[in-house]
Amino acid sequence: MQFCDECGSLMHTQDDRWVCRSCENEAPRDSQVEAAMTTRDGQQDDGAPAVADATQDATETMAESCPADDCDSDRANYEMLPKPGGSYEVRLFTCVECGQKWRES
Ligand SMILES: [Zn+2]
Ligand SMILES: [Zn+2]
Repeated sequence: MQFCDECGSLMHTQDDRWVCRSCENEAPRDSQVEAAMTTRDGQQDDGAPAVADATQDATETMAESCPADDCDSDRANYEMLPKPGGSYEVRLFTCVECGQKWRES
């Protein structure tokens, strides 16, 4: 909302200007507000890749022999799981070759 500098009447927006219908005074719309909104949008764009990186860190690969009889893979993805009823975590492995899942014993 903007009031006319000349007569104090409520001004109306017209394209990118404020226009007074009482005395026909015109003023440019507040460019600082639009500049601030543009800056916030830029920061949101910068934040998106950081979220993607955090998701990729959820699973990691380590040397671990697959327990499946017909698989000789020695690498597995793992994620940390809270142990039921306990305060520490246990690894859940997923074989990178055959997808076999098993828990750290
Ligand atoms: Zn006016
Ligand atoms: Zn396997």
